[in-house]
Amino acid sequence: MLAITGPHDAEGVMRAVHAHVPKPHDPYADLVPAAGVKLTPRHYAYLKISEGCNHRCSFCIIPSMRGDLVSRPIGEVMQEAENLVKAGVKELLVISQDTSAYGVDVKYRTGFVKGKPVKTRMTELCRSLGELGAWVRLHYVYPYPHVDEVIPLMAEGKLLPYLDIPFQHASPRILKLMKRPASAEKVLARLERWRSACPDITVRSTFIVGFPGETEAEFQELLDFLDEAQLDRVGCFAYSAVEGAAANDLPGAVPEETREERRARFMKAQERISARKLKKKIGRTIDVLVDGPGVGRSKADAPEIDGVVRFSGGKAGELARVRIDRADAHDLYGRLQ
Ligand code: SF4
Repeated sequence: MLAITGPHDAEGVMRAVHAHVPKPHDPYADLVPAAGVKLTPRHYAYLKISEGCNHRCSFCIIPSMRGDLVSRPIGEVMQEAENLVKAGVKELLVISQDTSAYGVDVKYRTGFVKGKPVKTRMTELCRSLGELGAWVRLHYVYPYPHVDEVIPLMAEGKLLPYLDIPFQHASPRILKLMKRPASAEKVLARLERWRSACPDITVRSTFIVGFPGETEAEFQELLDFLDEAQLDRVGCFAYSAVEGAAANDLPGAVPEETREERRARFMKAQERISARKLKKKIGRTIDVLVDGPGVGRSKADAPEIDGVVRFSGGKAGELARVRIDRADAHDLYGRLQ
């Protein structure tokens, strides 16, 4: 027995479970609750669309733990999303290990949403979710080419103009060693296209520094990429060897001190970019989902991993308009309108 909880205490149960077994997802960016169990405040909810992953990134052991991709039927996902919205959820956070691969395992099989045929595929899922009238935020989008298809939905206001797309590195050699798609130039060109199609888009990404064999020049390549890409939100992890990961066998382990030092340099560089970007929001009046009195998030802020908007007043779950007066490197400050 792990714990005793009160009746219907799903959160208590999940807390006990998570205390005893590893949580799912990327060892570097773990915020995924179990499918179907809502562990968040009432006004936002994670919507898990698939389990497992077909990639074999060399630093990750998710596929060996959770197996290959298994997509949930689109009808089931949409029913859950609809129930959540009916129950008062204002923001759906779409999660998985690889959101853009949704439906690959079932060959994009046609399912049924309210009796209408809909393909089990990311673009179609996004279009259907966009009809629910809630904020819909996409997380863990692997940089496949077809991701471009959802940008127009963001420009139309069907999806939040927000893409969480882990690039992990910019050096082609390191990306190859990581077994990730390897073209920083293509990424920069895509970012430009996305921004011209949807000027308000917020791009969030995560990176690993100090990967085995990473030279100072390769790290510098990553800093240069960061400077050019001007990403809005960035997470950075110093490489750490996860037991069972293929990358552990690569030569040229980077000493811990260097890994940490690179991470600090990387975050400092990003802080300057972030501060500059947030400063541009001063004077604008933006939509905010209130998380609690005095604090909320704009469309550019995912819960727990991004910044917040601070102001006086407000009630959890309300959608508000806030005029921005001030910004720092992470957060915005303003007045309720
Ligand atoms: S895409 Fe890569 S990092 Fe993400 S879960 Fe799959 S193997 Fe792991």
